[in-house]
Amino acid sequence: MDLSSLSLAKNEIKEELKTADSLAAIENLRVKFLGKNGVLKRLTAELASLSVEDKKQVGLVINEIKQEVETGLALATEQLSTQHKADSLEDFVKTLPGKKPEIGHLHVTTQAIREIVEVFKPLGFTRVRHPEIDWEYYAFEALNIPATHPARDEWETFFIDAPVDPKMSRQVITPHTSNGQIREMLKGDLPIRMLNISRCGRRQSDISHNPTFFQFEGLVVDKGINISHLKGVLNYFAKNFYGPDRQIRLRPYDFRFTEPSFEIDISCGICGGVGCKLCKGGWLELGGAGMVHPNVLIAGGVDPTQYSGFAFGWGVERVYMMKSGTRIDDIRHLLGNDLKFLEQF
Ligand SMILES: [Zn+2]
Repeated sequence: MDLSSLSLAKNEIKEELKTADSLAAIENLRVKFLGKNGVLKRLTAELASLSVEDKKQVGLVINEIKQEVETGLALATEQLSTQHKADSLEDFVKTLPGKKPEIGHLHVTTQAIREIVEVFKPLGFTRVRHPEIDWEYYAFEALNIPATHPARDEWETFFIDAPVDPKMSRQVITPHTSNGQIREMLKGDLPIRMLNISRCGRRQSDISHNPTFFQFEGLVVDKGINISHLKGVLNYFAKNFYGPDRQIRLRPYDFRFTEPSFEIDISCGICGGVGCKLCKGGWLELGGAGMVHPNVLIAGGVDPTQYSGFAFGWGVERVYMMKSGTRIDDIRHLLGNDLKFLEQF
């Protein structure tokens, strides 16, 4: 082995590298030159038989060849991959329709909440927020609902498994939004026109009840508030939310936190008042309303000889279902997460 034959070999290798036009060809050349029994291994082994002076010079050339081979193989690989990309672009059909991204929208309950807020806004009602898990005191006691009342039974209300407070008693998932009445009055900022909307929980599940639902609670406290104000506000809501063809009726009822109390009904939007499996008699119960009980005013720190008020607490889902054109025959669909259902709204 001498330097001239080596440089000849170097040129031949360079030429051969140019022929690598496939991954298989590149791999073959790699094995041929750099492999265990490759050309470079063989040349390096032959170095042993050379003089010290020749070893240096020949060693340098062998190193050059090795770098040449490595660079050549890397270059060939890169060219091949660029070529591959260009080929796949040729397969791209520009006129083929693209995939449309799925665009969602607000849940029907959120839409209903926003609509309700808008209806009450011109009357001066402001949306407020109060705890959805609250002490039994705010959810029942302060609302004139004694410990013996059936609503405070384990089978009616979700109680939280947490330490009991001697004054506030147990914690509950609020079964209504009326705890907000007490908390709002305790702010001491009179007069009040609030709309408290939040999630509630009750141990019930059937065609017209979900264990989790939303309520909106209206509370007005001011001097000289009487029952005509209550009727006026509810009529205003019915006209603006449901339209002029729906009817409202007030039935005397008994609630602990209002006196007098009413159950507010609306004519069924599915059967038009004839009677169907949802309404059973042509009327649907919207929810309770009434004049705030003096004991509740006192619990809220309000003097009942100076102030009076009215309140109503209705289910958001129920109210929305009764809206004209909304043909939901089972309230549980609303929490079912079935897109085929939800996409309709
Ligand atoms: Zn009906």
